Amino acid sequence: MNLYWLQSGGCSGDTMSMLNYEGNIFKLFENLNINILWHPSLSAIDSNTHDKLLQDILDEKIALDILCIEGNVVLGPNNTGLFDTFRGKPKKELIKKLSYKASYVIAVGTCASFGGIGSYDEMQGVGLQFHHTKEGGFLGKEFRTKEGNKVINLPGCPIHPKALENILYKITSKSPIQFTKRNTDKEYYNFTVHQGCTRNEYHEYKVEEKDFGERGCMFFHMGCKGPTTLAPCNKYLWNEVNSKTRAGVPCFGCTRSDFPQPYPFFQTRNIIGTPLELPKGVDRAHYLAYKDMAWAAAPQRLIKRTQRV
Ligand code: SF4
Repeated sequence: MNLYWLQSGGCSGDTMSMLNYEGNIFKLFENLNINILWHPSLSAIDSNTHDKLLQDILDEKIALDILCIEGNVVLGPNNTGLFDTFRGKPKKELIKKLSYKASYVIAVGTCASFGGIGSYDEMQGVGLQFHHTKEGGFLGKEFRTKEGNKVINLPGCPIHPKALENILYKITSKSPIQFTKRNTDKEYYNFTVHQGCTRNEYHEYKVEEKDFGERGCMFFHMGCKGPTTLAPCNKYLWNEVNSKTRAGVPCFGCTRSDFPQPYPFFQTRNIIGTPLELPKGVDRAHYLAYKDMAWAAAPQRLIKRTQRV
């Protein structure tokens, strides 16, 4: 299958993450029978050859099986798209043309999926088929590729390389993909960062961390969004060894459609000590009743922070 990778309003972080794939990235493409037509960090062709390649794709002389877009679609300033251009024209035009030529379109990263960084300012970044929580985005709610597929969202700032590997495997092997309501793959985005976090026991008993480097849960003071963020970080570890919460950094919800939230990352917004945002599915009245009981029942090994995380 032919794959073309286009970078738009982003920071290349997803590419960096992909290059950090635990195995050999070239071998992965080879094993999946993926032919990289163009990737800005992997391809070495001159601009004339690249222009010809693009024209051949647009003229359908070369099949475009998989289109990966990294970064949001830049509409600013004032909907002109001129903050991000290609050969003097707004890149958004190229993104639209290519999307209609592809069999599969993958939004790589949170910016491409939901808007992400630059979606709250004059850059006017939007996701390919979502703008934050709202379906539609740049291509519109009704957009389908020529094979009838919606845009596949792979959020993450940056993406987890395993989530990319997995979706490429499913596409190339024609395996079924089950989607969440945000067009993400259920296999990788249907559980929270909280699940699998090694600080879970501290969370259950509300043993709180108030500063970096302590043991304990970071939900109550440090702004951890693990319980409200659907992502594979504590299920498929990064570099197969670690995750933010395991390293003592609060999850800041980078796969969420409202990322980045317009308030400080490392603080928990609360009313008289009760977090404004509760773990997914938790009822506030029950939470209030439970939290003090939990603390009263906390084992000494947690209170004294002797339990390793
Ligand atoms: S640190 Fe975050 S992810 Fe870990 S248990 Fe606490 S709230 Fe959950």
